[in-house]
Amino acid sequence: MAAFRCRRDPCGFICLILTYFSVFYADYVVIQYVLIPAYSGSVWCTLHGSVFNIILLLLLACHSKAVFSDPGMVPLPETAIDFSDLRSQSNRLNDRVSVADLSTPGCEGWTVCSRCETYRPPRAHHCRVCQRCIRRMDHHCPWINNCVGELNQKYFIQFLFYTGMASLYSMALVVSAWVWRIRSEREGDGDKEGEEAPSKHLIVAHYIILLVESILFGVFVLVIFYDQLVSIITDETPIEQMRNRLMKDKPNNTHPTHITHTRKPKIALLREVFGRGSIICWLFPLHSSPPSAGGISYSALPDYDV
Ligand SMILES: [Zn+2]
Ligand SMILES: [Zn+2]
Repeated sequence: MAAFRCRRDPCGFICLILTYFSVFYADYVVIQYVLIPAYSGSVWCTLHGSVFNIILLLLLACHSKAVFSDPGMVPLPETAIDFSDLRSQSNRLNDRVSVADLSTPGCEGWTVCSRCETYRPPRAHHCRVCQRCIRRMDHHCPWINNCVGELNQKYFIQFLFYTGMASLYSMALVVSAWVWRIRSEREGDGDKEGEEAPSKHLIVAHYIILLVESILFGVFVLVIFYDQLVSIITDETPIEQMRNRLMKDKPNNTHPTHITHTRKPKIALLREVFGRGSIICWLFPLHSSPPSAGGISYSALPDYDV
């Protein structure tokens, strides 16, 4: 039900349609205007066609998993919880009410979301688009029309990886086909050139559009891919980076919201996102065990009395 709520965002709808359109357009141009004219009758046509389509299939599979997976929504309580006492104590510091002050073992870092009206575990944040709190929320991404959180970050990064690969591959194929075309035109006869003149412009237009698309998406995903890896190995989501920077800038800050995580090895942090299986499995949108051994189970209500 919550997943359907995410899809109400019009910007997310447009980005999803744009993503599917860009993928199918790239496939159409590569097959119709790159592989068939330049490699027709050669084994390279089948080889490049197969590899390119496998990359696109993996891209779409990872994208679908990122779109339709639960990013890690904090469950809502079955019965409404009265937070009026906590709110009055907290001086209304945004929507966050720390329950760490209650000094109950096991509840450090838990906060209250006044929008969801529930308790949320450490590192969970409220997404205004999804209208829910998301565990280890990274950001809300319109390209997947979903939040990037603890449970779907792996699929999101895989989607970025395959988009980058598809962009690079299509750039290389277009450039090589263009070079081949220029060479064959120089060597070819004038009659054939005159015959193909109208479609030649169309082919060049498709090459330019696909090159621009590949460069734009390629650079875009490369930057986000890098940011994602940095946020994993530093164990700090962009929201936490921003919050920690703000807390640092505040003089005499004593509020307990500045959370410092225990330093873990980089490989352990990567395994928390990509799963505990073989590194080869990191490349595929397969379900992996939850980040913590034995699984994380968050209840809507932590185990203490308010
Ligand atoms: Zn919330
Ligand atoms: Zn969201």
